[in-house]
Amino acid sequence: MNPLVFALPIFFIAIAFEVWLLHRKKKLALYDLADALTSAHMGIFMLIFSVFINVAVYTVVYDNFRLAEWPMDSIVLWVLALLFYDFCYYWVHRLGHEVSFVWASHIVHHSSEYYNLSTAMRQTASGKAVVWIFYLPMALMGVPPKMFVIVGLIDLLYQFWVHTELVGRMGWFDRVFVSPSNHRVHHGQNDYCIDKNYGGLLVIWDRMFGTFAEERVGEKITYGVRKPLQSYNILWGNLHYYVDLWKLAGQTKGWRAKLGVWMAPPGGWTDQPIEHFDEKNFTRFAPSSTLRGYAAAQSAVLLIFAVHCIAGAGNLPLAQGLGYGVLLGLSYMSIGLMLQGTSWARSLELVRVLGMGAGLAASANWFGFDMPMAARAAGVLWALTSAFFLMRQGKQTSMGVAA
Ligand SMILES: [Zn+2]
Ligand SMILES: [Zn+2]
Repeated sequence: MNPLVFALPIFFIAIAFEVWLLHRKKKLALYDLADALTSAHMGIFMLIFSVFINVAVYTVVYDNFRLAEWPMDSIVLWVLALLFYDFCYYWVHRLGHEVSFVWASHIVHHSSEYYNLSTAMRQTASGKAVVWIFYLPMALMGVPPKMFVIVGLIDLLYQFWVHTELVGRMGWFDRVFVSPSNHRVHHGQNDYCIDKNYGGLLVIWDRMFGTFAEERVGEKITYGVRKPLQSYNILWGNLHYYVDLWKLAGQTKGWRAKLGVWMAPPGGWTDQPIEHFDEKNFTRFAPSSTLRGYAAAQSAVLLIFAVHCIAGAGNLPLAQGLGYGVLLGLSYMSIGLMLQGTSWARSLELVRVLGMGAGLAASANWFGFDMPMAARAAGVLWALTSAFFLMRQGKQTSMGVAA
């Protein structure tokens, strides 16, 4: 099972703590429930999706082509492996911003217009499938797969805490390590923030390769991407830029030009400076929905199913495991559509909860898990209560009471 699952409770506790602190400082506006839920859903969906992406190539390269073999009992080599990983991460991340087909995957992480700990959970589902090749130098140099996975986890987990506006400038630390201050710059849309601070653990790489920028005092950072996602649909959030590139490639003639679309920097092949960003023209995506509380409650229930799926789907026959993943992906999509007030979202959600309820009622074995009677009954009760709530809400809305 993906070890990140064990970090989920820590992430949620840290997010709750940040919300509490912001509440005390009267800065709760730095959070938005719908945005934070979407980020969490994207992180969980990435974990579900990664059950089905097995990048075994690293092990194959290590087993057959390694030039050396790093013993795993030396602290020095562990530190070196972490630095090696972080160096590769810098370049992978840089490609993620400077080559369109990699940006199509990485854009997910930048699609939030808020910057808080929940933003760290907004991870791309397709990332592993796109960037694995760039870590192969580590396999060639003989870093064992286990060591590779562990230092990769350390690098990723480190990056969680830097997604906050609660920690200000940290002096020398901001120029050596990736920190809240320099990573805020990385998430900014302001002109000076674009394509800066790619580091994962160390920001020294950025200073070495000319991509470092310090946070400017007195210039408020606006977070997000220049062409905003404007959606809480996690499937669209993961796919939209691939669709854009596909369409663009379709309009060009000749395979070279088509390939060029996928390989070009996101702004195209141009020497022109990027368009000036004016904060006055920016409006945050903020659709109103009367179903935010409902969505949060459904999200909490879905988390139980999601953890079960991440833990068990790999052991199921592929079609069944995939079916479970798709069911949960669509469930998160349904919640997202409700949060953004899509007109037919309530009908889809009604079908979803009743469908899941019927599934729990009809089958004693839920995707490989023998459900005790009490759990099945609780599931059916949850589905019926949710359906009842949705229908009541629908009635009130159509009568203009809760519109
Ligand atoms: Zn990035
Ligand atoms: Zn980030």
